[in-house]
Amino acid sequence: MTTPAYKRVLLKLSGEALMGDDAYGINRATIERMVADVAEISKLGVELAIVIGGGNIFRGVAPGAQGMDRATADYMGMLATVMNSLALADAMRQAGLTARVMSAIGIEQVVEPYVRPKALQYLEEGKIVVFAAGTGNPFFTTDTAAALRGSEIGAQIVLKATKVDGVYTADPKKDPAATRYQSISFDEAIAKHLQVMDATAFALCRDQKLPIKVFSIVKPGALKSVVMGADEGTLVHV
Ligand code: UDP
Repeated sequence: MTTPAYKRVLLKLSGEALMGDDAYGINRATIERMVADVAEISKLGVELAIVIGGGNIFRGVAPGAQGMDRATADYMGMLATVMNSLALADAMRQAGLTARVMSAIGIEQVVEPYVRPKALQYLEEGKIVVFAAGTGNPFFTTDTAAALRGSEIGAQIVLKATKVDGVYTADPKKDPAATRYQSISFDEAIAKHLQVMDATAFALCRDQKLPIKVFSIVKPGALKSVVMGADEGTLVHV
C-alpha cells in the first residue's frame, strides 16, 4: 500500500487527548507527538481538516461552572476549543506545517470566521484547517461539529481519535472477553447500543453516508495506518 485510501479526511480529536497524563490542560510532549502523526499524513498529500474538543480545558474550570446556566457553560466549552485549536495550529506551524484556524463563533481579532468556500480553498491548497468553536451553538458537541464540517467539506471519512483502539463488543476495561469490531454498520451499532459518537453526530453521519473510523490516538503510527486503509480501529459504515 503506497497510496492513501482517502483524499480528504476530517480528524476529530478530543480535548482530553491533549492532556497526556496530566489532570487538565495541554501537555507539550503529547501535542507534539500528535502533530508528528498529523505531519505524516499531511506529507502523503491527504487533505486534512481537524475538529478539536475542549474537555481538557473545561475540566479545569468545571468545578467553578457547577450550577451554571447550560448555554453559558456550553459557550465556555466552545471557547475552550478555540484555545486548543490555537495551540494545535501553533504546534503545527512550529513543525513546519501550514494550518488555518476558522471559528464558528465570531472572534475576528483572534481567529478568522468559518466560511465554507474559504475552508475548501485552504484544503485544496494543502493547508490543514482547524475548525474551532464546535458548531457555534450550545447543546451540541464537537463530535457533532466533526460530522457537520465533515459533511460540508465533502470529507470521505470522519476519523475519530479516542483512547481505545476501536469499538468493542463490551467495555474492554470491564470485560476481558470483549472483542474489537473490524467494521460495523450504523444500523448494527444502533441495534447493539454501541456508543460511537453522540447521537446527533452519529445520526448526521448516517444520513450523509459519511463513514466513521474509530482508532487509537495513543498508539503511535495508528493515524497513518488508518489513512493508508489498514485494518486499524473500527470502521462504521452505511
Ligand atoms: N460545545 C458546544 N457546542 C458545540 C461544541 C461544543 O456547546 O458545537 C461545548 C460543550 O459544552 C462541550 C464543550 O464545548 O462540552 C467541549 O466540547 P466536547 O465536549 O465535544 O469536547 P471533547 O469532549 O471532545 O474534548
